[in-house]
Amino acid sequence: MSKTEITAISVSPGVGVGKAWVVSDEKIQAGKPRRIDVDSIPSAVNDFEAARSRAIKTLSHIQAATAKELGIQDAAIYGAQIAVLQDPSALDEIQKGIREKLLTPVSAIHAVIKKFEGIFESMEGGDMKTWAADLRDPWQAVLRELLEEKTRHFMELEGSIVLIAGELLPSLPTRFPRERIAAIVCERGGRYSHGAVVARSFGIPTVTGADQATSIVEAGSLCVVYADEGQVRVGATTDEVDAAERLSAERESVRAEFEERAKEPGCVGADHPLRISVNIESPRDLDLFSKDIVEGVGLFRTEFAYMERANFPTAQEQEDLYRGILKHFGDAPVVFRTLDVGNDKQLRYFQMPQENNPAMGWRGLRMSLQWPDILLMQIQALVKAREYGDVRMLLPMVTNVEEIRQVKRLIEQVAGRADALPLGAMIEVPSAAMALKDIMDEVDFLSVGTNDLAQYLFAVDRDNPWVADLYQPYHPAHLRVLRFIGNTCRMAGKPISVCGEMSGQRAGALFLAGAGFDQLSMAPPFVPEIKAILREVSIQELRVLARKAAACATNLEAFRLLEDAAEIAWQSALKRSGKESGKT
Ligand code: PEP
Ligand code: MG
Repeated sequence: MSKTEITAISVSPGVGVGKAWVVSDEKIQAGKPRRIDVDSIPSAVNDFEAARSRAIKTLSHIQAATAKELGIQDAAIYGAQIAVLQDPSALDEIQKGIREKLLTPVSAIHAVIKKFEGIFESMEGGDMKTWAADLRDPWQAVLRELLEEKTRHFMELEGSIVLIAGELLPSLPTRFPRERIAAIVCERGGRYSHGAVVARSFGIPTVTGADQATSIVEAGSLCVVYADEGQVRVGATTDEVDAAERLSAERESVRAEFEERAKEPGCVGADHPLRISVNIESPRDLDLFSKDIVEGVGLFRTEFAYMERANFPTAQEQEDLYRGILKHFGDAPVVFRTLDVGNDKQLRYFQMPQENNPAMGWRGLRMSLQWPDILLMQIQALVKAREYGDVRMLLPMVTNVEEIRQVKRLIEQVAGRADALPLGAMIEVPSAAMALKDIMDEVDFLSVGTNDLAQYLFAVDRDNPWVADLYQPYHPAHLRVLRFIGNTCRMAGKPISVCGEMSGQRAGALFLAGAGFDQLSMAPPFVPEIKAILREVSIQELRVLARKAAACATNLEAFRLLEDAAEIAWQSALKRSGKESGKT
């Protein structure tokens, strides 16, 4: 039996086995200065130097990976961070702090951070806060090296890694070499948070709500993560590891089988076409799946290209990025969603306002319309990218028709014609759902963001664990809104897709197909199973099912109804493939 078991909530399915790596994202606070005795000076200096060189090694690794994926310019920020850790005057101060003031390395670093912050605070002009942060962040990395992970270094751990972290941030899955991450275990972060979205598109088994995992789990201990069940076994025995690896291999074989079949176009039953497309965030996602299993990209979240850089990307850089994606998909449509930052998606080089309620604040299209230069540059890049493929532009967080009209004027300004780009609106704010008919008249297509629509419909922050129980995408109140949207668009012949996470859930996919949607866009790992299930049912059956689910009284009742139908369809798909045992 493993030494410890932690119960958590499933975020991204799968089984992962690896050694634990405990990540800390907390800012390490100074506290009272602590001292050492004279005899400890040499070992304190050694500890400091070892931690500093480990931090530099990690930053160099991230710098190289970023340069490879995004280009040298974007990797420059890590070079600057390394330079901060090599600054002779800071090193001299820290050494003196240890040798002369007998401070621990941690206290000596804090003293230097405080000194530099004091200097910036007394200066006028420029963005002093940002400069202070630029200086503090790399030293925080050294502090983490000194305080956590019990001297073990990520690069020194061999084989697969299970990341144990506080918060499931969108940057977490991208900070480490992907091929080494077997699973992610987090203490905090909603199932529908953007960190969860990224983990799912990477296909990394992930759980959240693992209470105190960063304190309980020792770095280097062997962990087995059963993400579907939300189970983490820490200090796993050889038998437990063998069993998990067997299950993982079985699932992989089922997945490979269905991936092969997924090359057929999406269809409900034998004859009702339903487009299946993918949600992606970056060109690096393209290596994770075969483009032959999807009919284009239903959602390209352009904000990730902004979030991973040191500066706003230029129009040329954006065009290059869009061209790469379009070329990869040939003639298939690619829906580029314009910048959707704010709330948990922040740009490190752009100061967002401090808001009491950021999810309802200055984000998405609202920000782009107030800073039209940013949107104009994006429109320019998209207009140019039309030469390379089927470009479509999607607006996030649309609240009313006037916003769409403003965007059309900007398109006209760039391209001379308001209809130069096929334009779509996301329906993810309840007011947009209620004004559906007016919005429909202004755009070429619509896409429903169920992640945010549910958040705003129930007034429940999608990231807040205190109210997570009230975030209920299968609640009939939400299903009724979705059915209204799907059926209204179907009758009007307006293309309508769903790009929220419900599309990639088997219960969600069955409901949405029955509710009138003609396209489902999802994280790539879910495509094979969803396509297989949809083939086992008829559209008439699903329309009845969707009506019944929307008529239920509770989230659980509706979910059970849909999930039972999905399980029957899945068993039938397995039987057809001759693989009757597992789940993908
Ligand atoms: C959504 O809200 O459902 C959506 C697809 O957008 P995001 O998750 O990026 O907010
Ligand atoms: Mg959204």
